[in-house]
Amino acid sequence: MISQGTVPELSLQRALSALGLEFEAHVRDLPGTPDIVFSADEIAVFVHGCYWHRHENCSNRRTSGTDTLKWMQRHRATVARDQRVTAELVRRDWWVMVAWECEIREDVSAVALRSKSFIEIRRRQAPSMTSLSPSRTSA
Ligand SMILES: [Zn+2]
Repeated sequence: MISQGTVPELSLQRALSALGLEFEAHVRDLPGTPDIVFSADEIAVFVHGCYWHRHENCSNRRTSGTDTLKWMQRHRATVARDQRVTAELVRRDWWVMVAWECEIREDVSAVALRSKSFIEIRRRQAPSMTSLSPSRTSA
């Protein structure tokens, strides 16, 4: 349901549609319920709020004086969950892209174009990825 998205999600979804890209939103049968999914290409995009997901080197992640230990623990738990979810998707041979809230706010079409080139790179690399899969028997 596209209508359930946050403002940056909806903004990115609109930009992706403008590029003619088709996607699904909030796919619950994938780890972490990715915000945007290109299922044919097995690419998951997470739209992350800079504060909650601790965007590195981003001014929006700055903790304020009112941050308590409890919030800091929640931040750590969020980041740990992000890492688990990414690892699980990668294990299933999915590609994962993070779209940060601040990037979307600054230039949503650049983020949409990045998603598009991610898809194009994946399509180009797909055959060699298969031959490089870790299940191959090595000499
Ligand atoms: Zn940020």
